[in-house]
Amino acid sequence: KKRNHGEVEFHQAVEEVLLSLEPVIAKHPEFVEAGILERIVEPERQIIFRVPWVDDQGKVQVNRGFRVQFNSAIGPYKGGLRFHPSVYVGIIKFLGFEQIFKNSLTGLPIGGGKGGSDFDPKGKSDAEVMRFCQSFMTELYRHIGQDVDVPAGDIGVGGREIGYMYGQYKRLKNAYEAGVLTGKGLTYGGSLARTEATGYGLVYFVREMLKEHGHSYEGKTVVISGSGNVAIYACQKAQSYGAKVVAMSDSNGYIYDKNGINLATIRQLKEVERKRISEYVKHHPEAEYHEGFSNIWSIKCDIALPCATQNDIDVPQAEMLIKNGVLAVGEGANMPTTNEAIKLFLEKGVLLAPAKAANAGGVATSALEMSQNSMRLSWTFEEVDAKLDAIMVNIFNASKDAAAKYGIPGNYVAGANIAGFLKVANAMMAQGLV
Ligand code: NDP
Repeated sequence: KKRNHGEVEFHQAVEEVLLSLEPVIAKHPEFVEAGILERIVEPERQIIFRVPWVDDQGKVQVNRGFRVQFNSAIGPYKGGLRFHPSVYVGIIKFLGFEQIFKNSLTGLPIGGGKGGSDFDPKGKSDAEVMRFCQSFMTELYRHIGQDVDVPAGDIGVGGREIGYMYGQYKRLKNAYEAGVLTGKGLTYGGSLARTEATGYGLVYFVREMLKEHGHSYEGKTVVISGSGNVAIYACQKAQSYGAKVVAMSDSNGYIYDKNGINLATIRQLKEVERKRISEYVKHHPEAEYHEGFSNIWSIKCDIALPCATQNDIDVPQAEMLIKNGVLAVGEGANMPTTNEAIKLFLEKGVLLAPAKAANAGGVATSALEMSQNSMRLSWTFEEVDAKLDAIMVNIFNASKDAAAKYGIPGNYVAGANIAGFLKVANAMMAQGLV
């Protein structure tokens, strides 16, 4: 903690993983001898850089850019870029650390990394976003590459931003290298089903978890926090399985629609018009809008899918969910549940699908996008979606089996950490002290 002073989110993520690895370490003293734990919490490389750009008023703005290349034991660094005013090194490091284990769980050859900036895309014009993205890439390009480090989207970085960054990368490199970024548009190397992948993958993972415990989505009430990329496609897939999604949010507040959320309205507001979720009630006057996003968890539901940001569910929110009889929680966002809330859910027998496993469908499909770019061909939506579904089933089984093997059956949080860790640790052992 002294060495990574003030990086509270990073401490939280490391504590959660290391505690669950205790039974593994007890069985594998060779990991201790080789310093695996000390090495795995230290990024291989961290890059922090200045991003100057000019706003529409002609004024110079300066933001800070980050790329943390955390672990390349099993493949090139891979992980998204987050553009949000809260971004600092502690956020990027927590995300990069989690990404190591998540990427390992996908079964695909990708290492862990993450990046971003404290730039706030909200309220900026397209031209400002483009100038920022071009400046960001003008520094980042020298550190990435299809065999080195492959960034993607995250909060505040969607198809528009990836397009601007890819355009600038191509201009600087003057080479065909589509595999350097994922989440690209379909006309220039993007993969079908990548946009949907994280949300769909989450719903597939939770489907497996429900099935294992004798339940299904049919007739269940679902609450989803967020209304961005992950939330929208989680909603779509859950609805297609017969669940009723009654609430969604953004960083200002949440909507409750007892008749079930009309996703077409949400998509129009969020994907096309870039408006606030409060506008939903103008189109559906029977729905309610409430200021403040964290009270969304006071709504009674069977399945909670936090898909907004970290630390969305702390102990008071977990207590509300438990009091209302929640059956399962599926983490679409990264680290949406605090360590204390995780403990509470597990003690009370709530089924918990951890982010590292449950939201790995996005990065898995990014790796499928890289494969298609290397082969210079594209698979159909159905092919990619079928591969994604199979990957999510494998991740669920790997998490379940690891939990059972280490004497904690049903604890998918620890199971995912253990299964993800073992592959990386063994690769690090084989590659010597690097
Ligand atoms: P988006 O930017 O598309 O959407 C984020 C949503 O969460 C928005 O509704 C946003 O509201 C809300 N939100 C963001 N920050 C906060 C905050 N501090 N407080 C309250 N609400 C907030 O991002 P994504 O959907 O891509 O990402 C959501 C989560 O999923 C993140 O944790 C991300 O790391 C994780 N994730 C994403 C993957 C992907 O493929 N996109 C893959 C794996 C994980 P507002 O619009 O008001 O800001």
